[in-house]
Amino acid sequence: MTSTEAVSTIFVPYGQGRGRGLDEAELGAHGVEVDRLVALGLPVVPGLTVPVSQSASLARPDVARAAMDLLAQVSGRPFGDPAHPLLIRLLASTRAGGAGVPVDLPGLGITAAAAPALDEMVGSGGAIYDVFAAVIRYVGEHGSGMPGDDFAEAEYTASSHAERVAVFLELSAAAGAPFPDDPAEQLARAAEATLRRWASPRARRQRRGHGLPEDLGFALHVQAIRVGPPETCGYGVAESRDPATGAFAPAGTFRRGVRRAAAEDGPGEALDNLPGGRELLVSALRTLELHMRGAALVEFEIRDAELALLAARRVERPAPRTAIRLALDLAEAGVIDDVTAVGSIRTSDIETLLHPQLQLTGRETEFAHGLPASAGAAVGRIAFSSARAVEWSENGDPVILVAEETSPGDLPGMLAAKAIVTVRGGLAAHAAVVARGLGRPAVCGATAVRIHKAGGTVTSGGQSLAEGELISVDGSTGTIYAGAVHVVPPRPGGDLERLLQHADRVRRLEIRANADNGRDAALAIQYGAQGVGLCRTEHQFLGDRLPIVRRYLLATDADEEAAALVELAAAQKEDFLDLLTATGNRPVTVRLLDAPLHEFLGEQAHEVNPMLGLRGVRLALMRTELYPAQARALFSAWVDLAATGVTPELEVMVPLVALAGELASAAEHIHRAAADVEASTGVAVPYTVGTMVETPRAALIADQLAGIAQFLSFGTNDLTQLTYGFSRDDVEAQLLTAYTEQKLLPVSPFASLDPDGVGALIRTAITKARTVHPTIKLGICGEHGGDPASIELCERLGLDYVSCSPSRVPGARLAAAHAAVAVAAPKPVSAATE
Ligand code: PEP
Ligand code: MG
Repeated sequence: MTSTEAVSTIFVPYGQGRGRGLDEAELGAHGVEVDRLVALGLPVVPGLTVPVSQSASLARPDVARAAMDLLAQVSGRPFGDPAHPLLIRLLASTRAGGAGVPVDLPGLGITAAAAPALDEMVGSGGAIYDVFAAVIRYVGEHGSGMPGDDFAEAEYTASSHAERVAVFLELSAAAGAPFPDDPAEQLARAAEATLRRWASPRARRQRRGHGLPEDLGFALHVQAIRVGPPETCGYGVAESRDPATGAFAPAGTFRRGVRRAAAEDGPGEALDNLPGGRELLVSALRTLELHMRGAALVEFEIRDAELALLAARRVERPAPRTAIRLALDLAEAGVIDDVTAVGSIRTSDIETLLHPQLQLTGRETEFAHGLPASAGAAVGRIAFSSARAVEWSENGDPVILVAEETSPGDLPGMLAAKAIVTVRGGLAAHAAVVARGLGRPAVCGATAVRIHKAGGTVTSGGQSLAEGELISVDGSTGTIYAGAVHVVPPRPGGDLERLLQHADRVRRLEIRANADNGRDAALAIQYGAQGVGLCRTEHQFLGDRLPIVRRYLLATDADEEAAALVELAAAQKEDFLDLLTATGNRPVTVRLLDAPLHEFLGEQAHEVNPMLGLRGVRLALMRTELYPAQARALFSAWVDLAATGVTPELEVMVPLVALAGELASAAEHIHRAAADVEASTGVAVPYTVGTMVETPRAALIADQLAGIAQFLSFGTNDLTQLTYGFSRDDVEAQLLTAYTEQKLLPVSPFASLDPDGVGALIRTAITKARTVHPTIKLGICGEHGGDPASIELCERLGLDYVSCSPSRVPGARLAAAHAAVAVAAPKPVSAATE
């Protein structure tokens, strides 16, 4: 097969593969890639592919010579012109890509005689000798079976690049396999070496290890590389996006001279210095982005100040900021739609942008590990008490509150602290819920930690730290480090909000926030919440308000109780006014008091099981003035605000209901308060009454509740606790960690809603409630409202809204969009969730 005609059927010049009906199986991944570049009208390095079925023939000198003839033709320049030298690059690829393919030789075609002049022309510290030496060694070692050690030793002893080449040539000659001067013969020998190497038992083993067939074939690619002076010649890599901002702003480096076989030292030069300018590179990257629908990465050559691409690929998993900006740009260009834009961003990307992050170097000392209870990171001095945290933070020191667990009395310390660490408690315990509400990073249930208050030390494993020493807390991973780790502040930027507006167009679920005061509500609304889905009124009585609620709960006669209630109502009206003002003309669900007594009274509560004791509506039915007082405070705050023209949609919610009668009685209390306010102000306040569904019984009698309530909100923290019988404060750190390790549970059911048990109860409740009240509003306000997997379940269950901590609202907006897409698509759902 020596005639030009016959040969022309073997070779596929770059860009002609598709036209000949060839795919990866014949062209290899690289052949297909350059084909695509040519089809896009982009400049590529002149070259040709020897397809998989023919690649062995390149080991024949006549075929190699024909390849060079064709190369000279496609590159418009002959081989052998010393004024305009042309080198050959040989590489290979399989249908599965280039990885593990044993050749990339950029320096074929050099001879001992031509090397000095070439080296002078190219400069850059002997690069020509480097690439030449690499070719000689490759051919000697893999083609002629010379021992690699011979070359390694010579490499070590040679005093210059030129001497190394001379020694390698001598070694080859002495071994009876002199390295040829003729470029075509060099190419044939390099192809032969590649074939032998590919067929070696080791290479076969490696293919097996990668799950590839042992007899996988490869295509060979031969490129013509023009060589010239450093002013006009070089090579480099560039990416389409600026990693710092995510904007389209090609970034990369280039080097002058020829590409070496080994990695180069130093950073290279900025693209601004590119011979011939960077315009063509920029427009190539733009074209590629639109085509690939992703960030593009290219390898390129500059020859005679002209750009040509060698390779191009899509950047997999770009940094969050880049992914978001890219999605926006592609959507704006009309290349992708809302669904694709939103689908390209992960909720974890949003977390990274919204919360501070620790910049880990791998040299940190891990002190302890617990549950990732509230995202974000902070560094501060260890403080063992709320009082100490307040004192030190007032002196300007950053503080981390480290406690066994927290209770309402610790609120000032939690507010003062940069982060919170608790030894006990789970993802739905006080510390976690409050930390998320406050937007403080928190690690809970760090069970290896021992606090020795008297000695002023905290230990974990074999390590000991003193109160006042610095620690770094990562609430996103649950890890605590000794000492200060650099914290990178969050920079959400306007792009995130623009991306979330795409998500808003895709999602069906309404997103609300759990906000207990005006500040939280304002933040939530800034993050895009459509209303407040849960105001826990007991949280308004934490900190310095605690004595009032204590006085009320411990009152021994009616007068004392009434006096405390007046104080309580006055404080509440102020808080409600703040909350309603921040919420504006949006829905706001205010839950009447649900205080497990021990949270307010500690030991004085006298309950063995306070979470199952005189909580929620039960207390209100014992102390019948409580809910009317709260409701009056709420309604009169609304009347004051309405006078300014702002009219939030009030939803008054009753907690911990298990009997329809409990709800009916509490509703009576609320209606009584509304009538009182109307009588004193002349304003009939519009409101609805609803209930939490957080006891299994409430879920099972949701039809009865729906006859009384205008909305139901699933309190999945308690519903999970009561369905499993898992104490939300006690079991998580130890038991659930062990259970997940033993694969008894895939994940903590307090973190991600259990589709089989709790989900089944919710489904039953929804069906029953809608039978009685088809348009009843249904939502969820447990901590699951911010968890992407739970949000998908809520979408499948057909809830109207999810409500979560303010800082989780952006993630929930995105997760709800993902859920809408997932549910609309054919769905792989387990029978239990259906
Ligand atoms: C719940 O139980 O899910 C809930 C929202 O109420 P809390 O966490 O206040 O008990
Ligand atoms: Mg609850």
